Amino acid sequence: MRKLAAGNWKMNGLAASLAEVKALTEAHPAPACEMLLCPPATLIAQMAGAAKGTALMVGGQDCHPKASGAHTGDVSAAMVKDAGASHLILGHSERRADHGETDALVRAKAEAAMAVGLVAIVCIGETEAERDAGRTLNVVGTQLAGSVPDGATAATLVIAYEPVWAIGTGRTPTLPEIAEIHAFIRARLTDRIGAEAAGVRLLYGGSVKPSNAVDIFALANVDGALVGGASLKAADFGAIVAALSAA
Ligand code: PEP
Repeated sequence: MRKLAAGNWKMNGLAASLAEVKALTEAHPAPACEMLLCPPATLIAQMAGAAKGTALMVGGQDCHPKASGAHTGDVSAAMVKDAGASHLILGHSERRADHGETDALVRAKAEAAMAVGLVAIVCIGETEAERDAGRTLNVVGTQLAGSVPDGATAATLVIAYEPVWAIGTGRTPTLPEIAEIHAFIRARLTDRIGAEAAGVRLLYGGSVKPSNAVDIFALANVDGALVGGASLKAADFGAIVAALSAA
């Protein structure tokens, strides 16, 4: 399968930030891995325009589960697609924490994304307290079972394992821990959606940087990365794209 380097700009970026897109696509015109940036909703259309004709794909960071209606401030999956996106990040831990998103809501959003032909990047991962209590596999397994829609396929679903305590902290699990959890996710996903699970990209996310990317990408069942802070600068994200392309 082709690996995926996905960047999450979160609530960062103005029109001037699109200079990073130009630098990234010029430096990486034909990477061996897939390359995706997910800017805030306000920038999706502009970034999609800037990425036209390049290897860069553009995604959103959230959608409402409904197709349309009286939901002030929300955007639907169809709107995100119409703006030029191909992917949607769903159930990021910041949305689970800041907006109380449950597994059931994440699943409904993933269904909405798939219904309009977007690839759903479903995020799962334990908090530090859950890890300290030895509950990592339990938490990740429960989130996976609850957040993944029936009928998800390798073409419509990506899973991002992102330990909450590793996001934006510079800390990561050990390499054997990442390998163990990704193997567990692959097995549980197989229970959930059958043989299709073999082709679903499993991304690692949480303080991926150019300096640790090579070792993480060498692990079995790591099919790419979801990158926050290091995706904001073309040079850093480009180094991660290069590491993944070589893996
Ligand atoms: C994220 O929030 O998806 C993330 C992985 O952030 P960072 O790379 O900054 O840890």
